Amino acid sequence: MNERQYEAMLKLGEAMEERWDYALKSGALADLLHDLLIASGSIPEGQTVQLSLGLTLLDQGSRGGAWLDLAERQITCDGRGNMTAGGNLIEAREFLVDGGVRRVPSGACPHCWQIWPVPFSQDEEHFSALRRCLFCGMEVGRNVRHLIRNNRCPNCVLGELSQGRPRCEICGLEANVSLVVWR
Ligand SMILES: [Zn+2]
Ligand SMILES: [Zn+2]
Repeated sequence: MNERQYEAMLKLGEAMEERWDYALKSGALADLLHDLLIASGSIPEGQTVQLSLGLTLLDQGSRGGAWLDLAERQITCDGRGNMTAGGNLIEAREFLVDGGVRRVPSGACPHCWQIWPVPFSQDEEHFSALRRCLFCGMEVGRNVRHLIRNNRCPNCVLGELSQGRPRCEICGLEANVSLVVWR
């Protein structure tokens, strides 16, 4: 997938979410949600049932195939009748790749678009295995850096990360300053 194709997928994802939200608000899903509530009424404590709608890219070129989530909406329900609506357009992430800005879905390599969960920190478990894209050899901290705009945390999008305080107070993400660049 290239950036133009990705933008088209994002539009599709947004349209999917708008329709889902409209269906929820208009009551078009009321019967289904009622049935979900009844069906999940007897499940054991600690378990939840999830009804979801998603847009996903299956990349069969990756080793063994890999799923890249692009957009999702879901309703979860526990056995006590608590229902929660959730889901988001999976945030795009921005990277600086050999000096140029690239925007790709979270989880994709910003150079070859294969699956690569680019790490933020060298402390992350398995960092040495994740440091490079297995497909094109791009390396975080060398050819690739996470791009952070307006100090917005790229993980939760709510908190802030600055060069002086690279730890997000909302989600706890601690970015290694050699792997990110601020714009
Ligand atoms: Zn790659
Ligand atoms: Zn955060």
